[in-house]
Amino acid sequence: MIRYIHLEHEFVENFPDCLQRGVIYISMQYATASHLCCCGCGAEVVTPFSPTDWKMTFDGESISLWPSIGNWNLKCRSHYILRDNRACESAPWTLEQIEAERRRDRSAKASYSKPIGLDSSTLPLPLPPLPSSEIRERKGILHSFFGWWNR
Ligand SMILES: [Zn+2]
Repeated sequence: MIRYIHLEHEFVENFPDCLQRGVIYISMQYATASHLCCCGCGAEVVTPFSPTDWKMTFDGESISLWPSIGNWNLKCRSHYILRDNRACESAPWTLEQIEAERRRDRSAKASYSKPIGLDSSTLPLPLPPLPSSEIRERKGILHSFFGWWNR
């Protein structure tokens, strides 16, 4: 059950220690949003923005997140979509859906590699630098690809 249907959004640099219910905090610096579960259970739900996680849209008045927020790792197992600062309840997850989602997430993350040279200084936890041999290898792959493309 969703108890907090209407959310206020707040753009912040750092998340406050104590989140308020019914508020979604958005940190562009960390490309992450955080709110307390809309069912009222009080669990903190953190939604990072990335090509394989959530996408946030802001139309100047309200924010939306996509895809839906499925708290299948929480006790409440709530599942909702945040659209235009409103939480719309979605069907509860079945065990099969949870398994499928776990698999999709794993394979999306495994097949996605960050472009070389992306500024990682804004990430909350810096990724360990690649060994230089691996970077050389990756650049080599790109070079041979573009070399082939330009032929
Ligand atoms: Zn909850």
